Amino acid sequence: MASGKEDGREKRPLTQLAQGGRSRSITGAFVNPPVVHASTVLFPDVETMRPGGQPYTYGRTGTPTIEALETAMTELEGAAGTVLCPSGLSAISIALLSVLASGDHLLMADNVYDPARTFAEKVLARFGVETTFFDPEIGGGIAALMRDTTRAVYVESPGSLTFELTDIPAMAGAAHDNGALLIADNTWATPYYCKPLALGADISLLAATKYIGGHSDLMLGTVSAAQSAFARLRETYVTLGLCVGPDDIYLGLRGLRTLGIRLDHHMRSGLAVAQYLETRAEVAHVLHPGLAGHPAHALWQRDMAGASGLFGVVMDGWSQDKTTAFLEALRIFGLGYSWGGFESLAIPARLRRSATDWQAAGPLIRLHVGLEDTADLIADLDAAFQQVDNLA
Ligand SMILES: *Cc1c(COP(=O)(O)O)cnc(C)c1O
Repeated sequence: MASGKEDGREKRPLTQLAQGGRSRSITGAFVNPPVVHASTVLFPDVETMRPGGQPYTYGRTGTPTIEALETAMTELEGAAGTVLCPSGLSAISIALLSVLASGDHLLMADNVYDPARTFAEKVLARFGVETTFFDPEIGGGIAALMRDTTRAVYVESPGSLTFELTDIPAMAGAAHDNGALLIADNTWATPYYCKPLALGADISLLAATKYIGGHSDLMLGTVSAAQSAFARLRETYVTLGLCVGPDDIYLGLRGLRTLGIRLDHHMRSGLAVAQYLETRAEVAHVLHPGLAGHPAHALWQRDMAGASGLFGVVMDGWSQDKTTAFLEALRIFGLGYSWGGFESLAIPARLRRSATDWQAAGPLIRLHVGLEDTADLIADLDAAFQQVDNLA
């Protein structure tokens, strides 16, 4: 395809990442698409200005740059189509707005990214959509929460603070039996490790800000939908007027090319750091689905081909002061929100729940293992433990 030849052979993930969106019709003879800065597109005559008269008509609704990343994501997610959003959060809001209407009921997992919860509570509520939060580990029990008016089930698997997995096929089955759609936030695994649409979801969305960007210099979201949801998604997207600047799309596309090799490193290094933390007496639990002791390890093995570099650590009976001192003693791990870039990060986790009661042996911190040397990261944690060991 990149060479302009289409041989019909199925491509494996690394090849899909390298070649996605590179058809000759989009990039011409170049490896990369042009970065098209555009509002106005010119037409040769009035007749061509009719709908469908030429492929590109206005900057907001499509350019070769937009088409390249949309096409690549559609292929990776196994979707009918994709829309690009200015942030991961706008990907969440557009996905929900495309499915829900006044009087509808939404089921949302209790472990989702907190601003998704806030969007439901503040904005959807104002438009007459009622939300019920549910235990992410509810599995087939979700059927009992369905109402006649339930139109969407929203999950994030694993949740990006507490790392419970949600059984996507079970959720999809229950949703579809009720005439509802399943929306999955796939930011943690990315389509390189998990394909929610193949597992039964109708919409898979990502904060491409995280691993697809990969370099902490970009805000971007993607929403990919199956045939069941794409027409409404596209209509809502176009109607609301969302779009992304071409330089950011270009960075997203550039990040996509190396997503696989970066994630394979994040996974290996993340698991090594998680295993080290499991040996520490100060640590009560390491919340990483790739560890054999994780409650959802079997589900992770069934539904995902790998793990990213983000996981949680519960400190055994530590005070908040000791946790703060530990975080501030880290020299390589930076203190900062977001994740998915090349750099390692740590945050103190603050949880907001309503359907479940988070019980832990101590404070929760979240680590993102970046692309630094694994031994240096372990040494950094080791030194921080030593520094706080005799604090109360
Ligand atoms: C960061 C994040 C988002 C939001 O992405 P932004 O680009 O920061 O708006 C959505 N979902 C998850 C799981 C995230 O971690």
